This record gives sequence, C-alpha cells and structure tokens, in this order.
Amino acid sequence: MTVYSHSRLSCYEQCPQKFKLQYIDKIETEEEQTVEAFLGIRVHEALEKLYRDLAHQKTDTLEELLDFFSNEWTTNWTDDIIIVKEGYQADNYRNMGRKYLTDYYRRYQPFDQDKTVALEERIKISLDDEGKYKLQGYIDRLTETRDGYYEIHDYKTNSRLPLVEYLRSDRQLALYMIGVKNLYPDVKDVRLVWHFLKFDKEIDSTRTDEELLRLKKDTIQLIDTIEQDERFEAHPGFLCDWCEYHSCCPQWSHLHMIQEKPANEYLKDTGVVLVNQYAEIKSTQKHANLQWDAQLEKLEEALTMFAEKEHVEVVFGSKNKVRVSDNEKYSFPNKNTKEREQLEKVLQKYGRLQEVSQLDTSALGKVIQENSWEPEVLEALGKYVEVERKKRFYLSKIKE
Ligand code: SF4
Repeated sequence: MTVYSHSRLSCYEQCPQKFKLQYIDKIETEEEQTVEAFLGIRVHEALEKLYRDLAHQKTDTLEELLDFFSNEWTTNWTDDIIIVKEGYQADNYRNMGRKYLTDYYRRYQPFDQDKTVALEERIKISLDDEGKYKLQGYIDRLTETRDGYYEIHDYKTNSRLPLVEYLRSDRQLALYMIGVKNLYPDVKDVRLVWHFLKFDKEIDSTRTDEELLRLKKDTIQLIDTIEQDERFEAHPGFLCDWCEYHSCCPQWSHLHMIQEKPANEYLKDTGVVLVNQYAEIKSTQKHANLQWDAQLEKLEEALTMFAEKEHVEVVFGSKNKVRVSDNEKYSFPNKNTKEREQLEKVLQKYGRLQEVSQLDTSALGKVIQENSWEPEVLEALGKYVEVERKKRFYLSKIKE
C-alpha cells in the first residue's frame, strides 16, 4: 500500500479530484512558487544551519546567520516567484525573514534549552501492528529536554496566528508523535512545539494515548476511503483559484479551452452554444412558472372565498373538481438545533421516539458514498442498496 503523508491526506480531504491529478495521474504542472513559500524555505534552511553548526560545536553569530539567509535568498531568487500582495516587493519579504531569524536568535540564545536529536529528519509512522498503513513526514527539529522529554519543533512563517483549539487538533505533528514514540523506546512523553516566527511566539501542546489511538483509527479509515475511492469527486471551492491543476480539472478545463479561442470561434463552441440555449430555456421556464404560480395563487384565493361563501368543501367544474381543505400545519425545530435535541429527548423519555422517527435515507446515502462506517456494516447494508447513476444539471452564473 502507498506510504501516505499528512499533505497527501490533506490534499484528498480538500479535493479528491486534485488528489487523483497529483498523486495517481501524476500530472506535471508548471511550478509557480509564491514569495511566502520561498520565504518559508529560506528561513527553515537558516535554522537548520544554526542547529547543524551547533551540533558541530560551532555557534553562529546572529550576523553570520543573517548573512547566510541573505546569500541563499539572492542565489535562489528568480523573477518568476509570485508576489500576490499589492504594494510589496521582494525586499519586504527578505526583511521579514531577517526579522524572524533575529527574534528567534535573541529569544533562544545560547540555545542550551535542549539537545537536538535530529534535524529535518524523515520519520516513518506505522498506524497498525501489521505495518499495512504507513505514513512518512519530515520533522523540522526533534529535541530531548533535560528531564527526558522529546519535543517535535515545527517552524511556521504563517501570517496568521492559529487558534489554540486548532493546534489541539492539528494532525501533522500528532502523527509525527506516533512515529517518535515508536522510534525512541526511551521516550517519556512528547511535546509538540510550534514556533510562529512572525509573532515571535512558541505554542506547545501534546496528545494523550487515547487521542493518539483515535487519530490512528481515523487516519486508517481515511486511508481506506482513499484506497476504495473510484470516482475522486471534485470539490470546487475558493481554493480552486490556487490549484495548480485548474487547467486540467474537469470542473474548469472547458473554461480554459474556450478562453484560448478568439471571440468569434468561442461563441461557436458547441459547449458554449448548448449552455447558452440551456440557460435561455431555463430562464423562460422560470419566468413562465412564476406567472403560472401567480395565476394559481389568485385562483386559489378566489376558490377559498367561493367555498366559504357557499359553505362547500368541493367545487365542481365541467370535467374536474377541486377539494378545498383546511388543514393545520405543524412546525418543529430544525435538525441539528438545541431545541430539536430537547424535543427528541422528551420523546425518548416517554418511549415514543421510535414511533415517529424514520430512517434518514439521504444521510445513509451520504455515509455509503463517503464510506464513513466500518466495512462490515457497509457490507451488511450492501444488499439493500441499489445504485443508479443519474446525470444532473446545475446552472449557475460564472464569477466575473
Ligand atoms: S481546480 Fe478545484 S475542483 Fe479542480 S482539482 Fe483543483 S481544487 Fe479540485
């Protein structure tokens, strides 16, 4: 089975189609690097050098470290690195990097808080005893503290500081923690340490054994879902604008195709002709429906008045009749609300919930589509499920 990584798993969670294009079809894209990614790489390599030199009994001065950073910046900089934010130049980002390193250096100098065990180390993570489910990753710096604890350090050059709850559920370092616990039998416990360099801030967290067990289970389930996926559905969203597979993704490739055509040819494209006709007919239909709805509403009002005036419940025409019924309509709290939960509890208390609850087949369909239950449960359900493929058409406006 494939050796997974946190970024592979995240890619699938973001968009299964992107996962397919990147990892299964292995489509090569023209790599465009953003200045933020470039800055991250340069800062990481400067910190790696700092600790590698320390391991060789050489303490870099701050000036030496900044010189190294600036030299690497100049040597590796190319003009096709993208600066998206308006009003900023490459030098602004270079100065940001220098500031991050200066703050870090001053905060931790003389760097004797811990002993570096590994730098930019590839770590293998096994999620099950049989070694079927494997992951790998790279730890920025692994250390051992004086009291025998291990720490997994991760350098972040993010422009935003994440919430502590987000870090409490961060998967990447927690997976590395499983790997470290397997790799170093003398480990007492492991701390996960994030360095948010822009904010000169260190945030740490850890995971209990129960949390790690749950993480293993969830990750195995996610890997099973990926391995069994045959459709790799696209999940279009705001991240599409940053997706390097935009031009070959079935959600966008037609747009790329027609954008390359001159205006007169573009309008003759079969797809464009069909969608334009479809949109026109849909709009005419919608307009007509609205008119019919308004007429029906007026007739219903008139029928209600007639039935009340004549004290009749059924009104006869020449070939049809209309029954005018006066029913009460009940409303209940919506699903997933506190009130709905309380209502269910009341029904449960009186042993009546079963009588008025029904199987939610659309929720069940979603579970089956996402393979989100245990395989034996899904297998047992299999004989009651018929799969029918149906094309659906969704008409919407193109973003300007
Ligand atoms: S462009 Fe959007 S929908 Fe297509 S693969 Fe990329 S993220 Fe997925």
